[in-house]
Amino acid sequence: MENSILFLGTGTSTGVPMIGCHCSVCSSTDPRDKRLRASAFVHYNGLKLLIDCGPDFRTQALANGIEDLDAILFTHQHKDHTGGLDDVRALNYINSKPTTIYCENRVLGGLKMEYSYAFSDHPYPGVPKLDIHIIDEKPFEIQGQKIIPVRAMHYKLPVLGFRMGGLCYLTDANQIAEEEFEKLKGLEIMVINTVRRTKHLSHFSLGEAIATSQKIGAKKTFITHLSHQMAEDEHNIKGTHADLSTEMPSGIYVAYDGLKVSF
Ligand SMILES: [Zn+2]
Ligand SMILES: [Zn+2]
Ligand SMILES: [Zn+2]
Repeated sequence: MENSILFLGTGTSTGVPMIGCHCSVCSSTDPRDKRLRASAFVHYNGLKLLIDCGPDFRTQALANGIEDLDAILFTHQHKDHTGGLDDVRALNYINSKPTTIYCENRVLGGLKMEYSYAFSDHPYPGVPKLDIHIIDEKPFEIQGQKIIPVRAMHYKLPVLGFRMGGLCYLTDANQIAEEEFEKLKGLEIMVINTVRRTKHLSHFSLGEAIATSQKIGAKKTFITHLSHQMAEDEHNIKGTHADLSTEMPSGIYVAYDGLKVSF
């Protein structure tokens, strides 16, 4: 199977629409403005990889026929990226095997707090079963396929992006150290995050995401992890997917749930 990335979710932690909000983005009827929490399913040299397993994982797996995974790669421990891990129980059951996960030690610490019942000495039957691999910034292999972690900062929290051949997926960051740009040379596809149009403490603003994408210079860049706060009144930009797409520089695209791109 060809290498590809399928965007399972492209929304920030609240999702879009946000509960109780009736702004122009939240009330849009365009399916591209319905954003589940950020996650991606990657086919890479025969591997089926899930990047992050947020609270919408069950919905995303059912909608996209995901029934088997070689591994889950975690970018960081925030709930919108880890809140669906209990639902791998179904995969444990139908595939009769634990789910392999790759994460940093600090992320495992977060998972142990969130899912203490899965890590107890005498777990009750039916808890999620995990085969845990601890990683850091060093490249690692899954079944002989090389994955290069890319370090970025999410305000004060170190997070990892992952480069797999011509693809790099890096979400929840607002700072990439100069030396990490070396790892981002020659990309076909870069995935990068924004959360809103104006400056944010821990995420790239839309302008920063675009500037960083242009510095990286991938053939195509897709922006993910959007909130509903993308409007800009002065130029009458409503902030919907359709509206935002008209202001993207060439080669930069706003991702949406269900978008699949080959690399
Ligand atoms: Zn997030
Ligand atoms: Zn809204
Ligand atoms: Zn986060």
